Amino acid sequence: MNIREAKASTALSPSKLPGLDWALNPYRGCQHGCVYCYSADVMHMSAEDEWGTFVEVRRNIPVILAREKKKCSGTVGLGTVTDPYQPIEGKTMLTRYCLEQLAAGECRVCIQTKSDLVTRDIDILRTMKGAEVGITVSTMNPEIAAMLEPGAPEPAKRMAALAMLSGAGISTWVFLGPIIPGMNDSSESMEAVIKAAKQAGCSKVIYDKLRLKPILRERMKKRFGYSRTKDMFRLAGERDWEERVFIDIEVLCDDAGIKSEKAF
Ligand code: SF4
Repeated sequence: MNIREAKASTALSPSKLPGLDWALNPYRGCQHGCVYCYSADVMHMSAEDEWGTFVEVRRNIPVILAREKKKCSGTVGLGTVTDPYQPIEGKTMLTRYCLEQLAAGECRVCIQTKSDLVTRDIDILRTMKGAEVGITVSTMNPEIAAMLEPGAPEPAKRMAALAMLSGAGISTWVFLGPIIPGMNDSSESMEAVIKAAKQAGCSKVIYDKLRLKPILRERMKKRFGYSRTKDMFRLAGERDWEERVFIDIEVLCDDAGIKSEKAF
């Protein structure tokens, strides 16, 4: 893993994501290396930067945030492009330092991650009015999760983290996705995540399917081979498959007594 330092010129960027006014990303690149991640596309990265092999640590971001938080109102999204609790955060604590700054301001914070490391910061989060944490769980099957999200903690740990956060009075939700044909699109697989989310005290399940980005097709071909990837992309583009999956999720959420919401 190539870990390098980078200087941020700003901490808060205006966000167009629904429900978020600002985006805050202490890192560029992500050690979780999810096969379906299209952050490289969002960041207009060059082809030689192989996703999951590097991370840039924006070391000065808490200092910049200390100045910028004065202009901040509304909701700050932490982890809109890369994971704020990827393994390097255990050492650098940049996300924690940013939370300390935000806790002293007026903003609300919404965190999205795939790591149970977020529980380290429960002490700060419980002091922040309206703080919420979403954790992605695409499957409860650890072998499939390891194929899709090789650098992320196993699903059971993520669910345990959600239960801890909910127990501490922090609002939580699960991101169930992306749903990928032949990987995690069976009713049984989705039901396992939904039931665990309900048990962990989450308020809702946000769901989405695989985004059909060219950058993903190339990466997935390397991981799963040409014909399997071709089938995944074909099915994920079919309206019948999408309808079956989305209706399934909504019915399963109704049955489990948890709210469902389609991602943007
Ligand atoms: S955790 Fe998020 S940002 Fe990191 S590789 Fe996975 S999808 Fe991308």
